[in-house]
Amino acid sequence: QALDLMPALVSLNPEQRAAVHYLAGPLLVLAGAGSGKTRVITEKIAELLRSGHQAERIAAITFTNKAAREMRERVAKLISKEAAETLQVSTFHALGLRFLSMEHAAAGLRRGFTVLDADDSFGILKDLSPKAQKSDVYDLLRQLIGRAKDEGLTPEQALKAARSPRELQAAEIYQAYQQRLQTFNAVDFDDLIALPERVLREQEAVRLRWREKLSYVLVDEYQDTNRTQYRLLKELVGPRGAFTAVGDDDQSIYAWRGANPENLNQLTVDYPHLKVIKLEQNYRCSGRILRCANAVIGNNPHLFEKRLWSAHGEGDHIRILNCRDDQHEAERIAAEIVYKREQQKALWSDFAILYRGNHQARALEQALRLARAPYHLSGGQAFFDRAEVRDVLAYLRLIANPDDDAAFLRAVQVPKREIGTITLEKLATLAGSKHVSLLKAAESIEVQKQLAARPGAQIAEFAGLFRHWREAATRMGAGDLTALVIQESGYAQHLVAGLRDPESKARREENMQELVRFLRESDKGRDGLSALANQLALISFSDRDDPGNAVRLSTLHASKGLEFRHVWLVGVEDGTLPHQGAIDEGRLEEERRLFYVGITRAKESLTMSVSQQKKRFGEMERLKPSRFLRELPETDVRQEGDDPEREAEEKRERNLSHFARIADLLK
Ligand code: ATP
Ligand code: MG
Repeated sequence: QALDLMPALVSLNPEQRAAVHYLAGPLLVLAGAGSGKTRVITEKIAELLRSGHQAERIAAITFTNKAAREMRERVAKLISKEAAETLQVSTFHALGLRFLSMEHAAAGLRRGFTVLDADDSFGILKDLSPKAQKSDVYDLLRQLIGRAKDEGLTPEQALKAARSPRELQAAEIYQAYQQRLQTFNAVDFDDLIALPERVLREQEAVRLRWREKLSYVLVDEYQDTNRTQYRLLKELVGPRGAFTAVGDDDQSIYAWRGANPENLNQLTVDYPHLKVIKLEQNYRCSGRILRCANAVIGNNPHLFEKRLWSAHGEGDHIRILNCRDDQHEAERIAAEIVYKREQQKALWSDFAILYRGNHQARALEQALRLARAPYHLSGGQAFFDRAEVRDVLAYLRLIANPDDDAAFLRAVQVPKREIGTITLEKLATLAGSKHVSLLKAAESIEVQKQLAARPGAQIAEFAGLFRHWREAATRMGAGDLTALVIQESGYAQHLVAGLRDPESKARREENMQELVRFLRESDKGRDGLSALANQLALISFSDRDDPGNAVRLSTLHASKGLEFRHVWLVGVEDGTLPHQGAIDEGRLEEERRLFYVGITRAKESLTMSVSQQKKRFGEMERLKPSRFLRELPETDVRQEGDDPEREAEEKRERNLSHFARIADLLK
């Protein structure tokens, strides 16, 4: 924890200080990994506060909710807790959500609107498509619509622009999709950026109000913003350009999700008086680690030239572990971590294992569990993505927004009621003819009478529950309400019914308790349920849980911005990193940036592991070490072979030292 205190004590270098104090106009800090960009943002927030800016008029934008939380904590240490709480530190999406909550009328939404997640969008598209398609088709459609929104293209414009029957069909689905969202009083994730951008662009009064409201804007990880995010930023700050953006083009790793590193260039075009500051000292990595990182990224073409140097010593060699297969790899790494932690009296959270794809985590999880090392998985299936959590959220959403038909359809089906597809279809037709939502239709006695007797009664009961909960919501906070809903809906019994494995039973119950606890904590009683339901939908977008003292397991993508004393990069094989798809399509540069991001997470030691083979479709497949390994300077790297004898020797040594320690304790 000593590291936490450091930023307050260690002084900034001259370039950092210049960046913190520069307020004369727009500023871009362009610098490599570990050079203190994020630190410049936190220090600058503190400086703005000291020089009289009001906390609620400063907006800082980070890449994940977690990064936002960390930044708030860092500022709290530099200034005060109260100031940190009123600061607006959030992701672009959370900022957009806040904008829409305040400006819902301008955006054509009613109070209590819903934010649909990817699953909900998927369901709607499935419903709107002419006939059953392969599920990739819906994903593709979703991407297409997302891209259209990113380009600022309305359905009407898309219809006009369509040049083939297929394009026309896609545009029609886009139009129907937007209409459906409107009826649901809902927005999707892309709308969280696109709608505020449009409102700001088209409505002067709102635009002026927001430019007045925000006195300064700071953006971290600027290289991974997409087009709409950039335009949103531009609308918010206006021609005055009171903003600081920090970024590193070498760490742009989200192009596949629409990120546009060209935005770095665009800034210099749109703001001719933009000041650019470069930081060149890396404070994170040992000399050898930094040399490897520089060597690797040197193979990519560059928009901007930058060099990085480090005042730290050379440090240990980068180790390449040669393993038989991924299981062997996982066991070896788990053993190394357990040993190293003891030997160095380190924290579990000083260690991270990074990989290219989520599926690689399984073997590692298993090995860590066997080694009794606590671990935390990020970038994988996050808490809010779990089915049971999403089920309960559907109930909450429907309480907050009775027009949310997607939530209705999810809630009405768990736990199982005697309400079948036929009843639901009938209900949908009746709702359609009356132009009301499913829940509103379900509440109508007239509608209930037109359904068959038993399902009709069930529908009436279901609707009655919601009337009761909406009333309850006026008396209690979201946490208590959730506990009530879980009980009264029958979800509590449903959750564990038919489960024989006590462990999964316990895990699901824990998840429910965790959800209630989380809502109780974030429920400050002032926002009301509708705002909270929106917050929840948004949180599911990225990980929320505090990793605590645990080994971090993370995808390379999710490791951006973080640092650890000891890092293992696993599966450094051709086909894994670089990814096979990228090799086939010749997209090696983004993979190399990903590799660069991985290397630069390490402060003291870096180990890369390579398996000789892996099981695929039940057969053993031989693997080749990653082509990127050849880009590392030979003198900084040490190979460790797959030598069973030596490994056994190491193991004995580890065990002995373990015994020695225990013996020590007994003395
Ligand atoms: P990334 O590109 O990975 O996001 P970054 O440029 O944002 O990296 P930071 O995370 O801000 O870098 O800083 C890296 C490390 O260097 C942190 O531990 C930070 O506390 C430390 N650091 C930053 N500036 C200084 C300084 N002037 N003196 C000492 N340490 C510093
Ligand atoms: Mg950073």
